[in-house]
Amino acid sequence: MVRQVRFKCIQCGNCCEDKNSIITITHKDIIRLVNFLKCDFKELLSKYIGFYQVREEFEERLVFPAISTFKGNAFLGLRKKSDGSCVFLKDNLCETYTGRPMVCRSFPFIFEVKKGWLSWGLMAKAEEICPGLGQGEEVSEKSLEKFGKEIMIEIEEYRKIVKYWNRHRKVEQQDPVLLVMTFFEKANVSSSRST
Ligand code: SF4
Ligand code: SF4
Repeated sequence: MVRQVRFKCIQCGNCCEDKNSIITITHKDIIRLVNFLKCDFKELLSKYIGFYQVREEFEERLVFPAISTFKGNAFLGLRKKSDGSCVFLKDNLCETYTGRPMVCRSFPFIFEVKKGWLSWGLMAKAEEICPGLGQGEEVSEKSLEKFGKEIMIEIEEYRKIVKYWNRHRKVEQQDPVLLVMTFFEKANVSSSRST
């Protein structure tokens, strides 16, 4: 049975204030953020994104593979303000809206491929925190499928880049700026291939 969902973001900011979740950053998000903020990698790392350590027992459950760093396995995520809200949240609005990360673009939906089939659902807590669900137009299966495919391609590319980094960049793993640069370069290569 096809599930019908109506959704329209009403810009309440709830999903950006969640203290218990971290917005994971992909290689393409680095391009989005650098282009939108017009900053260099050092500034991006010092102000907006950071490494979050991954506890070994949680690694298997991660959608995004862990990145090998000299301090242990980690993932890249958006920084948070002292109250736990996203570094980009100001007056309930996103200061980097057109350059926001993939995870923010897809909220409240999640996608996965099982046995070759793309399926979608709602993120944990979405029904609890998102008043935009049940509002606006019905989200069509076609748009969810198109969006889901784009996201799965991005995640697959990201997995390959992380695998490359983890295998081949043993010395450079001590330099976070170099890692961000590598992700940026690889993302540019994949973007030029897909255009
Ligand atoms: S919780 Fe829902 S309605 Fe509120 S900002 Fe996030 S997506 Fe929009
Ligand atoms: S980047 Fe923007 S949309 Fe994403 S959590 Fe931060 S404020 Fe919200």
